[in-house]
Amino acid sequence: MNEFELIRRYFERPAPSALLGVGDDAALLRVNQNKVLAVSTDMLVCGTHFFPDADPYSLGHKTLAVNLSDMAAMGAIPRWATLSIALPEADEAWLEKFSAGFFSLADIHDVALVGGDTTRGPLNLCVTIMGEVDAASALKRSGAKAGDEIWVSGRLGDAALALSHLKGNVVLSNEEYASCSDALHRPQPRVALGLELPGIATSAIDISDGLLSDLGHVLAASGVGAVIDFRSIPVSRVMLKYIGLDAAKRCVLSGGDDYELCFTAPASRHSDVLALDMPLACIGRIVEGSGCVVMEGETRLLVESGGYDHFG
Ligand code: ADP
Ligand code: MG
Repeated sequence: MNEFELIRRYFERPAPSALLGVGDDAALLRVNQNKVLAVSTDMLVCGTHFFPDADPYSLGHKTLAVNLSDMAAMGAIPRWATLSIALPEADEAWLEKFSAGFFSLADIHDVALVGGDTTRGPLNLCVTIMGEVDAASALKRSGAKAGDEIWVSGRLGDAALALSHLKGNVVLSNEEYASCSDALHRPQPRVALGLELPGIATSAIDISDGLLSDLGHVLAASGVGAVIDFRSIPVSRVMLKYIGLDAAKRCVLSGGDDYELCFTAPASRHSDVLALDMPLACIGRIVEGSGCVVMEGETRLLVESGGYDHFG
């Protein structure tokens, strides 16, 4: 199987939302009138983001999911993606599963794969995603104001807990691991939530490097501080069992790989946020100043602020 057969067999699919998709020197895309293009890239590197023996179906899912999460965080509707991959060899069984995982998630969100690049090399997966958003209502990191409430979606820390188990840093029972492994391997990007937030949220970010790190980006971009209440951060049953341990607290606050949304909204919009009827929790408030204070009841938690940093 040569490079072009590989592309045709595994990555060329009808792309009715594009004027021209895979197969030419460039794709041609028409953005809806009155919208702007939101563009984002995320790369998954073998050995850094996943183990060499990672399940290819899950990898296909996650490669796209982490990019969809960025569209959600901007309040953009995802439309098109390109996929650039380096592969050590043309392993058909692997490609079959990888592309199945990728396209099943792409189909759910109506995203068309319109191009990419395929080369031989150490396993590396890179997606560029493109979506549409109203220029005026795109959710940025810079809009948080003192007095705003801070919200997060879903539950935090499960992906990091599953990873800690795989690394042997914590030992979970089979049942416990099974309950958190999907968070690590098959994250469900919050695209529907992201589309509801323009007009309500003042800022948003997706949690990829850990809550404190990513909320920290919002605080820095907005020139504000925050006080959050550790006990109001939603966690799973397994996490709750271990929550007394510092390692578990670190998973929740700094673990990363959550792909949940963290956003701020005026306190006056509290009931509008609840009316979205999505799994959302208010975890604190934006204050004047800088940095994030984490309280556990009346006690201040002393936490390292760092999330995942590839060069830190
Ligand atoms: P070029 O040499 O002009 O860069 P390529 O031979 O790299 O073209 O790719 C041929 C076509 O296949 C292009 O339309 C490109 O976008 C597409 N393509 C290559 N790799 C992938 C991939 N992994 N997924 C989707 N499309 C791909
Ligand atoms: Mg090329």
